[in-house]
This record gives sequence, C-alpha cells and structure tokens, in this order.
Amino acid sequence: MAEPKENIVMFPFMAQGHIIPFLALALHIEQRKNYSITFVNTPLNIKKIKSSIPPNSSIKLLEIPFNSSNHGLPPNTENTDILPYPLIIKLLHASTSLKPAFKTLIEDMIEEQEGKPPLCIIADIFFGWTATVAKELGVFHAVFSGAGGFGLACYYSVWLSLPHRDVDSDEFELPDFKEASRFHVSQLPLSISEADGSDSWSVFQRMNLPAWVDSNGILFNTVEGFDQLGLDYFRKKLGRPAWAIGPVLMSVDNRTRVGKQAGISPDFLKEWLDTKPENSVLYVSFGSNNTISSSQMMQLAMALEGSGKNFIWVVRPPIGFDINSEFKAEEWLPEGFEERIKDSGRGLLVHSWAPQVEILSHKSVCAFLSHCGWNSVLEALNNGVPLLGWAMAGEQFFNVKFLEEELGVCVEIVRGKTCEVRYEDMKAKIELVMSETEKGKEMRRKAKEVKGMIKNATRDGYGFEGSSVEALDAFFKAVMLKRDGANHKP
Ligand code: UDP
Repeated sequence: MAEPKENIVMFPFMAQGHIIPFLALALHIEQRKNYSITFVNTPLNIKKIKSSIPPNSSIKLLEIPFNSSNHGLPPNTENTDILPYPLIIKLLHASTSLKPAFKTLIEDMIEEQEGKPPLCIIADIFFGWTATVAKELGVFHAVFSGAGGFGLACYYSVWLSLPHRDVDSDEFELPDFKEASRFHVSQLPLSISEADGSDSWSVFQRMNLPAWVDSNGILFNTVEGFDQLGLDYFRKKLGRPAWAIGPVLMSVDNRTRVGKQAGISPDFLKEWLDTKPENSVLYVSFGSNNTISSSQMMQLAMALEGSGKNFIWVVRPPIGFDINSEFKAEEWLPEGFEERIKDSGRGLLVHSWAPQVEILSHKSVCAFLSHCGWNSVLEALNNGVPLLGWAMAGEQFFNVKFLEEELGVCVEIVRGKTCEVRYEDMKAKIELVMSETEKGKEMRRKAKEVKGMIKNATRDGYGFEGSSVEALDAFFKAVMLKRDGANHKP
C-alpha cells in the first residue's frame, strides 16, 4: 500500500479576505507538491468553504468548535463579513480562545498518525498563538501573509511602537523601518491612530505580533523583485526567513465558486467592455466588504460623470446602512445619474459584487480606483493596471504609500472612509491618471514593468524557475530540514 501523503495544516482567520488567499495557496500547493492539506476553521465557515473546494481537489476540511455567543458577539457570527467594524476586534479577541482546541486538534492528528506530526502548520497573521502551539508540539510553523511585505512591515512596526504618539507634528518615522521614509498621522488606520497601548486593538496586536518569533518563517503573497524592502524588514526583525511566493491567485473558475453572486452577468459585462476602446475604462471597487459615506458617494459620482471617462463602479449602500439592503440610487446618487450614464453608455453600476479579475484583465480597462487591499493590488499589477488609491483600513494606507512612492504605479485619490472629499479634486486625479499626461503614461509604463516582473517571478519550467517558484521550493526545503532533523534526533 502507498504511504499516506504527508499533511499540511492550514488555518486562516475567519474573514473572506483571509480565507480566499489561504484557499488559493492550498490549491497552489496541492497542484505542485505531493502533500495532503487539512483546512481548519470554525463550523459555519467550513460549511461555506465546502462549496468552494473544486471537485478535483482532495483538501480536507476540519471544524474547530466555536460559539460566538460565548464571546459577546451576536449568535452565529463567525466571519467579519457579517460584522460591523467595531465588532471585528471582538472576533479577533474571541479567536484567541481557539488555542486549546487547536492544540488538541493537532495532538489528535499526531496520535492518529502514530506519533508522526503534520509536516507543517501554515496559519494566519492574526493567529500568532498558533506558532506557540506548533513550537510546543515540535511542528514546523509558518505565518502566511495575504498582505504585501512593505504594508505588513509598516503595520507590524507601527503597532509595536505607536511612534505617532511621541511626536508633536503630523509627521513621524518608524524607528525600526526608516527605509519606509516618513508617514503622516492621517496615513494610519483609525484603529492605530486612536490606539494608546491599552485599548483592545493594542492589547490584541501586542500579544499577537510578538508571538511570530515562535514561528519558523513567513510566507508572503508577493514578489521579491518589487517588495524586498518589507521582506528584509522581517528577515532582520525576526531573524526568520521571509519567502515571497506570490502572486498566488485563484483561477477564474475557482473564484466563481468562492466569490459571491455577481451583481451582473459576466457575459453582459464582457460585451460592454468589448465596445470600449483600449485603455479607456476606470474600474472602481473597494474590496469585499467596504463602502464609503453617502457624501463621498455623491462626490465620487459627480467626479466620474464630470471626468467624461468610461467606468464600471461596484456600488453598495453607504456607511450607516445595511450593506445587504437595497441600493437607493435616487437617494444616494445625483438626480438622474443612473439614467444619464446608461443612456450615454459611459458607465455601468454593478451592485455589491463584480467579477473583478475578468474586468481587470480586459484590455479596455485603463486604471483601477481601489481601496488597495493586497488581493486587489496583486490582481491589478498582474494585469499591468495602474491604481488610484483610496485606503480605508488596516495596512491599505501603507500599500498606497508603497505603490505611489516606491513603485510609481499609483496616485492617492482620497484617504480614509470618513474624510470630506471634493469632486473637482477626484476628477483632476482621474484625468491625470487616465489621460495622455506624462504622469499617466509613466504610470502605465511602470505598471507594465511590474507585470513583467510578476511573469518572471512565477515562470516555472524550461530550465528557468522564477523567484516565487524558488521561494516555495526553499520553504519546503526548510520544512524537510526540520522534519529530518527531528527524525534523526538520538
Ligand atoms: N472582489 C471581487 N468582486 C468585487 C469585490 C471584490 O471579486 O466586487 C474580490 C477581489 O477580486 C479580491 C477580493 O475580493 O480578490 C478583495 O480582497 P482585497 O484584499 O482586495 O480586499 P478586502 O476585501 O480584503 O478588503
């Protein structure tokens, strides 16, 4: 009988933006390496993930018990998708209660395999405590970051030192990451700018982030060639390898399975895009669950209309309204806006969810107005599309800074969910990026250059292995080294 395959345990935080890249990584590993994969999550998430696993995959799903009501959360809330922002930190704190159950789950696996531990545990950036469990049980552990190197390095550094609290001015630098140059306080997500070290976000992160030293290294969904600054930060800071193995992205078929129901038929969308000239459409979307304020929405609509450019805009009810409720165009958009853009054929409003990768890979798309979540960034760069950045939370602010200052493929258009915006300013930035200006041309050239870097990094075969392919091999070499070392202990 053939030896059973060695097992990799994967454990993402309970949020779509985390589960999706983990699934992409699981499928990526399954396709390339001969290991079995066990995907761990809470019961309601496992139920949803089940339908996302392609029929030809043998990824196993394993439930870890969790009851949201025991943690002051509404019943049956196991995913940030259905939580208002202030409750997300509660879910993060609640997730630390999974530690004993996770330890038991790994111990049971070891017992079932007659003392043989899983090959490795790959866990979320929010599950630092899993590294401690892995260390206690002698299992190789890696953190997998769905965020980029630069963005996560800033996030890590800022949380640990809260440097903006020690300066009188609006500007500050990161004491252990000076290479990132200067920051403005307004470039911090609210959770950080309001943090004083004793609030619940600080308490969580100051427990979570330092625990990464127990890990054997960090896997990044990024490319060494353009993200080395951030990767080197972690190599120095933690004295651990950082493997840039990306971009690991879902195939279009698998995305359809994991994504939500699109608010438009992909065929209709393609037909619409086919009628537009090359490089003429702006795609506007703020990720899987963000929305903007009603006054921002009104100004954005005016900027889009005033710019005279073609656009596709994924709309959701503004902040303060149930995100899944009906979209009231007559209340939240300028009068007659929908009819005008429909009649002129210039714009498409897509409700809630659009097939993003299909849009970004269409040749008529010129730029992407995005919140700069890392998945969206990778999907844009993979297609050579420059960005207009509108960060809303987390490390997105640092991603915008990185894309604008380091890569030159982005212009920041707005900062934050609540700030006041003026349509004239947005319109000017849209024109700057999309028209035949020097800046616009330069950004498109740089975005194509980054696309080329991604292509090279992921090349596999014909005697050439790209840096991301080599990094995945290096990761598994490190895993094997630990396993063989453990087997050879006297
Ligand atoms: N996405 C999509 N259609 C939408 C909105 C989002 O397919 O209408 C996908 C997008 O392609 C990306 C993910 O959802 O893969 C969003 O991830 P990202 O890291 O950009 O942002 P987050 O949702 O985590 O804030």
